[in-house]
Amino acid sequence: MGRYIGPVCRLCKREGEKLFLKGRSCNIEKCALEKRNAALGKRFQRKRKMSDFGLRLREKQKAKRIYGILEKQFKGYYKMATKRKGVTGEILLELLERRLDNVVFRCGFATTRRESRQLVSHGHFLVNGRVVDIPSYLMNPDEKVQIKDKDKECDFFKNIIELTKEKEIPAWLEVDKKDLAGKILKIPSREEMGVSLKEQLIVELYSK
Ligand code: SF4
Repeated sequence: MGRYIGPVCRLCKREGEKLFLKGRSCNIEKCALEKRNAALGKRFQRKRKMSDFGLRLREKQKAKRIYGILEKQFKGYYKMATKRKGVTGEILLELLERRLDNVVFRCGFATTRRESRQLVSHGHFLVNGRVVDIPSYLMNPDEKVQIKDKDKECDFFKNIIELTKEKEIPAWLEVDKKDLAGKILKIPSREEMGVSLKEQLIVELYSK
């Protein structure tokens, strides 16, 4: 599956809000969006009034950018969500949250979803004891993801663990910091996903 490889700050600028795509640098350094807003001043930051279509489109683009997914695959998740019983928008987000690259990021084994995706693709993680190098692999309750034994001691991963040690772990996950392993305890509820998206707008966009 393809992925966006351009500068990520440009994506925040396009959406006009911080999507936190660069991990800690989004909070520590002055971010590119903040710099731009400061340079423009309040007078120029007033947003144009958007049509209903525009609002829905922007929300979908935002979701794709947060999870690092391109249109075809994103639409595939939407189709999967429509086939399941329940609230389509919430199921869509649940599928995105259960992706292996997202779980690795949520567990603090990568500083960003982009980094997580790359590390998974390079085979640094085991799921239930076996190497899985597919970032879109959907994890289920009771499945366990862990950093490969030979990688646990390398400086690269030690640095990541140090950088993410204060990260809040969502209630649907359990992380063993000693063993560098994470387990899915349950399917996340909407409140536990901790992502600021109006998923209903995305459903309205696709269902028109
Ligand atoms: Fe977005 Fe982070 Fe770049 Fe700021 S620093 S524009 S939040 S990716």
